[in-house]
Amino acid sequence: MGDIVFQNTLTGRKEVFVPLRAGEVRMYTCGPTVYNFAHVGNFRTFVFQDILRRFLRSRGFRVMQVMNFTDVDDRIITNAAAAGVGIREYTDKYIEAFLADRRALGLEMPEKVVRATDHIEDMVRLIERLTQRGCTYSSDGSIYFRIATFPAYGRLSKLDPSGIQAGARVDVDRYDKADARDFALWKAPKPGEFFWETRIGPGRPGWHIECSSMAMKYLGETLDIHTGGVDLTFPHHENEIAQSESATGKPFVRYWLHAEHLLVDSEKMSKSLGNIHTLRELLEQGHKPSSLRFLLSSVPYRRQLNFTEDSLRQAAGSVERLRNFALRLRQGKFAEGASGMSERAARAAEEFEAGLEDDLNTARALAAVFDLARDANTAMDRGEFRQGDIAPVLKTLERFDAIFAVLVDDDAEKLRALGLAGSDQAPGDAEIEKLVAERQAARKARDFAAADRIRQQLADRGILLEDTRDGGIQWKRK
Ligand code: AMP
Ligand code: ZN
Repeated sequence: MGDIVFQNTLTGRKEVFVPLRAGEVRMYTCGPTVYNFAHVGNFRTFVFQDILRRFLRSRGFRVMQVMNFTDVDDRIITNAAAAGVGIREYTDKYIEAFLADRRALGLEMPEKVVRATDHIEDMVRLIERLTQRGCTYSSDGSIYFRIATFPAYGRLSKLDPSGIQAGARVDVDRYDKADARDFALWKAPKPGEFFWETRIGPGRPGWHIECSSMAMKYLGETLDIHTGGVDLTFPHHENEIAQSESATGKPFVRYWLHAEHLLVDSEKMSKSLGNIHTLRELLEQGHKPSSLRFLLSSVPYRRQLNFTEDSLRQAAGSVERLRNFALRLRQGKFAEGASGMSERAARAAEEFEAGLEDDLNTARALAAVFDLARDANTAMDRGEFRQGDIAPVLKTLERFDAIFAVLVDDDAEKLRALGLAGSDQAPGDAEIEKLVAERQAARKARDFAAADRIRQQLADRGILLEDTRDGGIQWKRK
């Protein structure tokens, strides 16, 4: 296997990935702002992070990933007050929904998941440190970071700091600043607003300081990887760098990986544009969790992904092809011996790895697996596939599934876990195997009426049975 290469936003180049400590990857992920349900655009970024961590783990790295929840900001405070509940209570339900959606998409849990509101003291300490270093000023009870004290500002986003104006997300806070580029570390409460009483005064943290303090608390002052969507590059990540490096004098992050946006009709999917689909909406319309996971992972993360119903249907077809192929391999009876398929499978596995090593080029990795499936299916159709070919081909498929995680047919279970229907339409492998075995038993007992009934039941749910020449039975999805 070759080196792993990542496109680093910081340097603008592809670089060989070497973690600071051998065998260990410390990685921070900006989590969602929990004032609403996450949309599938958000999940594009979270699926990319899952592919990344699964790939690193599969290469033997110990991964320590930290993800935060931004559970305090202007919108959360306003919405919670309007709903007459505390911000914890208000955000709890969106955190739960987000975690359930993640499970439905087969996303592994980061090693540590943390809430901003549990780390106010850490943030206060970091702000004090920045003040001691002369990087802050106060105005009307709020504390700002003075960008003029950090000459490297703009290096990540490649923006000329002198030209940075107060843009949409720069100036979400509505306070007086010495310089439009400066950003709030600590925000004084407005009358009647929720606040924390702290050593640096009453108020609440700014968004950027949350991530700097939680990242460094759990991962140390220099992290290996920091990820997020491309919209976070500026100002969020630029500000994280300014705060963290001003406080420690050390490089904050070695590799910055940013996922491009998921688009709808050429526009970013975003709450503010009102063009969002939540995962639940799409599942309620009959799409499967595995189709979404596949679609979101199939386009390399540095490329924009245009979201359409049609692409979702194609994704479903791709997953089905691979699942049927895996079944055919597991159920098939082939002549003894082995053919050139073993080498063919090994070549596909190599190409799969090479694709992922190349800045997680998932499209290339997938092409390797689909080519293998096509060739193996052809060999089976021609009677050239051998019993000894099963294991090497399955091994490559398993390698694929350790990263893409769509082969196990657990869509129905995942829908049930979200409280959604759909179980009647999509039985899982285990359930099908059980019914098939019952039908075989009925036939053996010459109870043909019962056998036919089970066959019909399965057909109604999209499962076709085929008798094999050796008296066995094979099933597949329509
Ligand atoms: P937010 O809750 O807005 O902070 O977003 C959570 C994550 O989703 C961040 O990493 C964003 O960059 C990412 N994100 C938001 N919109 C999109 C989109 N349309 N496509 C891909 N990622 C997105
Ligand atoms: Zn962040």
